[in-house]
Amino acid sequence: MSTQVWQDQGSEARSSGRSRGDTGQDELASQWSRVRGRLQEEIGEVEYRNWLRQAVLHGLDGDEVTVMLPTRFLRDWVNKEYGGLLTAFWQAENPAVRRVDIRTKPVGTSERAPDLAEAEVKGAAVKPAAARREIEDRQDMSAPLDPRFTFDTFVVGKPNEFAYACARRVADGHATPGFNPLFLYGGVGLGKTHLMHAIAWELSQRSDEVTVAYMSAEKFMHKFVSALRRQSTIEFKNELRSVDVLMVDDLQFLIGKDGTQEEFFHTFNALVDSGKQIIVSADKSPSDLSGIEDRLRTRLGCGMVADVHATTYELRLAILEAKAARAGVNVPGRVMEFLAQKITANVRELEGALNRLIAHANLFERPVTLETAHEVLHDLLRAYDRKITIEEIQKQVAEHYNIRISEMSSARRARNIARPRQIAMYLAKQLTSRSLPEIGRKFGNRDHTTVMHAVAKVTELIDADPDFAEDVELLRRILTV
Ligand code: ADP
Ligand code: MG
Repeated sequence: MSTQVWQDQGSEARSSGRSRGDTGQDELASQWSRVRGRLQEEIGEVEYRNWLRQAVLHGLDGDEVTVMLPTRFLRDWVNKEYGGLLTAFWQAENPAVRRVDIRTKPVGTSERAPDLAEAEVKGAAVKPAAARREIEDRQDMSAPLDPRFTFDTFVVGKPNEFAYACARRVADGHATPGFNPLFLYGGVGLGKTHLMHAIAWELSQRSDEVTVAYMSAEKFMHKFVSALRRQSTIEFKNELRSVDVLMVDDLQFLIGKDGTQEEFFHTFNALVDSGKQIIVSADKSPSDLSGIEDRLRTRLGCGMVADVHATTYELRLAILEAKAARAGVNVPGRVMEFLAQKITANVRELEGALNRLIAHANLFERPVTLETAHEVLHDLLRAYDRKITIEEIQKQVAEHYNIRISEMSSARRARNIARPRQIAMYLAKQLTSRSLPEIGRKFGNRDHTTVMHAVAKVTELIDADPDFAEDVELLRRILTV
């Protein structure tokens, strides 16, 4: 598993030949120690001790830093929760770094020994794994279903009620041809997979006779390609065409994969022609899925197309309430309101935040409070704040003080210009993850010490002058809603 953060900015610096050769072992070790220091500062002592203390630096290879953790659990957790921060801090330390790869290293093994699962992921030629995969390919036509993804656990609200109703209809087995295919689309983490699994559960509960095959488009492609390799495409086709319900998730994966699209198209037609049900999901509507062959696109759009919209505050709150109740954990209303307000991207993230809070509460046997929520979700919340750009801040502050936005970068030092500029710098430091030098650059190439001075000055004024403090607070609120 690796954390990949690709940035366009500064790529010249990285491609100009700074790589392993330029970073000696000692230098690397001290960079690592600074990265650790920043992490510790950023996420707090407790979190750091729990999750990152055992991380060791394995090395830098080209543009990739490898960091080792002793268990898979830790590896996955760190990757998920802190991968972004780790990468950002490394990149700040060493512009040659583009990726941070987080791996497991069992305690006591001194040499690099990636475990089997990782070797598979990396596509290394591990014989037993490859053999196992082939058997798997032949055996399960359907990927396993997540037992949590049922209709019972799906919270219905305005944004998803139509998709939900369509899914129910198909799951009831009363769907008319107008529902074939059922095409669910919407952004990441909004419940498409959940609905598909729910349909599959429902159908398989209803009758043993119905065979449902659920798979991701990616898996569909892998199966197809490996059937080609084994020269057993006929078998593959027959198997696919023998199911009653075929679900293919995340169809956008097939964009540009022409051979697989072709195969899917034929399977699709064969199934629909024999009255079988197809359910497909994608991140866009059929008409917006560019890169999918026209004839397939047309067929995809001729059944029922249901859009899962972005969540609303009400739906987010209802989901949190349902999940907390299901987990049997007492989460104060204020905390749920706070999360529903703050974590707006998608349900997956919202759920992840709640799970972290619950895990933390269990681990330390402490109740969930607004305070622990801030503490535990520090990095996530910051990621939301990070979306505020320095440009937005400059614009807002300039408007507020009725000065031209160009004055943010000008050399003028008159108080009525310099003060708002300092406030903008202060807010940039507070509300974005930009470093002092980065902020300085955005304000007419000023030095980082100027930014530091601005931050100190504004802090001082906030303490001394309530009116001033109120003004800054107002700006902060405008920027963070
Ligand atoms: P998608 O496939 O659209 O990317 P998923 O179906 O994987 O999203 O949903 C992401 C997570 O959010 C899952 O854990 C799912 O159970 C949960 N989720 C999404 N929508 C809802 C909902 N309306 N009610 C309950 N849980 C939901
Ligand atoms: Mg999905």
